[in-house]
Amino acid sequence: MQLNRESFGEDFHWGVSTAAYQIEGGHDADGKGPSIWDHFTQRRNKIYGNQHGNIACDFYNLYQEDILLMSRMHIPNYRFSISWSRIFPEGTGRVNQAGVDYYNKLINECLLNGIQPWVTLYHWDLPQALESKGGWTNREILNWFECYVAFCVQQFGDRVHWWMILNEPLVFTGAGYFLGVHAPGKKGLTSFLSAVHHAALCQAAGGRIVKSMQRDAMVGTTFSYSHVEPWRNNEKDQAAAKKTDTLLNRLFIEPLLGMGYPVADLKILNRLEKFYRDGDDMKLAFNMDFIGLQNYTRELVRHAPLMPFIRARIVKARNRKVECTQMDWEVHPPAIYHALMRWKQYKNLKEIIVTENGAAFEDFCINDQIDDLKRIDYLKDHISQVLLAKQSGCPVKGYFVWTFLDNFEWAEGYYPKFGLVHVNFENRKRIIKNSGRWYTSFLDGNILSDIS
Ligand code: BGC
Repeated sequence: MQLNRESFGEDFHWGVSTAAYQIEGGHDADGKGPSIWDHFTQRRNKIYGNQHGNIACDFYNLYQEDILLMSRMHIPNYRFSISWSRIFPEGTGRVNQAGVDYYNKLINECLLNGIQPWVTLYHWDLPQALESKGGWTNREILNWFECYVAFCVQQFGDRVHWWMILNEPLVFTGAGYFLGVHAPGKKGLTSFLSAVHHAALCQAAGGRIVKSMQRDAMVGTTFSYSHVEPWRNNEKDQAAAKKTDTLLNRLFIEPLLGMGYPVADLKILNRLEKFYRDGDDMKLAFNMDFIGLQNYTRELVRHAPLMPFIRARIVKARNRKVECTQMDWEVHPPAIYHALMRWKQYKNLKEIIVTENGAAFEDFCINDQIDDLKRIDYLKDHISQVLLAKQSGCPVKGYFVWTFLDNFEWAEGYYPKFGLVHVNFENRKRIIKNSGRWYTSFLDGNILSDIS
C-alpha cells in the first residue's frame, strides 16, 4: 500500500493546529485582559524554568509572515484559537475592538492566502476576571460563554465555516481544576466535578449557538484520546484499565452524544449529580457535525489499591523502556487507529477530524537545517494508521498536525519541540524543519513511502 494524499480522497482536510496562548504573545497588547495562563505563569515553580507566554512566538505581530510561510508550505487549513480575553478583557460585557480587529485581520490573511480558517473558541485561556468569580466551577460560566460564542459567530461567521467549541475539556478540567498543574491551579474533586459538568454543558450550548446563528457552519468540538490497555492480562489490571479509559476517553464525549455520563463504569461520577439542575440531561447533548480527535499515545494501566477514587495508575512509558517523545509519551502509532475505530462504533457520531497529532523530539539546528527524522517517521506512521482506519470504514475526514511552530508547551515551557517549523526564541526567526518539507511534499501529492 502506498502512502500519498490521493489515497485519502480529494475531500479530506489537511492542516496544522495551534492555540492562542501557546504562540501569540502580546499578552497585554492593545487592551487585552489577562487570562488564567497569564496569571498562572507568574507563580513560582509552576512552569518549567518559570517560563511564560508573554511573547511566545510573537505570532500576534508576525501573523502575516507566518500565514505566508504556511501558504508556501501548501497547507490548506489552519486551526487556531481565539483568546477570549483579547476580545472581552473582563470576560464579559465590554468589548476590546482592537482584539476583534486582530482576529478579523488574521482570518482575512488566511483567506487571502487560500487557507481555510478553523476556529477553536476555547483553548484553555479563560479570562482571569472570570476565574476570580470561580471560573469553570461557577455555573454562571454558561452565560459568559454563550455571550462570547455568539459574539464571535456574529463577528467572524461570514468568513469562518469551521468552528470548534472546546479544546480537550478533560485536560483543562483535570490538569487545571483537579491536579492543579495547569491554570488556574485548583485542586480537588469538588472543583473538578463542577468544572466538568459546566464544561460539558458549555460544549453542547456552544454547538447549539453556532448552528442556530450560522445554518451552514460545520461545528465540532475536540477531545483528547489515549488508547488504554491493561498492563497485565489479569482481572484487576483490566478493571483498572476500564476505569481509566472511562475517565480519559468517555467522560465528555458520551454526554454530548446523548448517552449521559458513563457513571456505570466509574462510580465516582455519581457525584456529578450534585451540580445538576432540572433539564441538564437534555442540555448535555448536541449533534455536532464533526468531532475532533486528539491522539498522541497509548497508556498502559495497572491496579493501584491506594490510588483514591480510581484504584488505577498509569505505568510510565519511560519505565517500560519503549521509544518515547520529549513528553515521555510512548510512540505507538496503532493507538490512533484504535481510537478511530472505537469512535466509529458510536452511533450518533457523524464525522471525525483528527484535529491534533504530532510529536515533540529534541531538534538540532545545524547550518540553519533541522533534520528531524524521528518526527517524520512519527507523522508517516500515524498518517498511515489513519488511512487504515479510513479504509476500514471509519468516517475520518481530516488530519491536522500538532503543531505549526515550536511553542509554549504549557507546564513544560519551551523545551518540548512539536513544530514543523523551528522558532529561535531569541530572535523569533523561523526555519522550516525537514518534517515541514516532508509534509509539503506529501500535500503536493508525492508518494512518500510504501507502507505494509
Ligand atoms: C493540546 C495542545 C498541546 C498538545 C501537546 C494537546 O493536549 O491541545 O495545546 O500543546 O496536546 O501536549
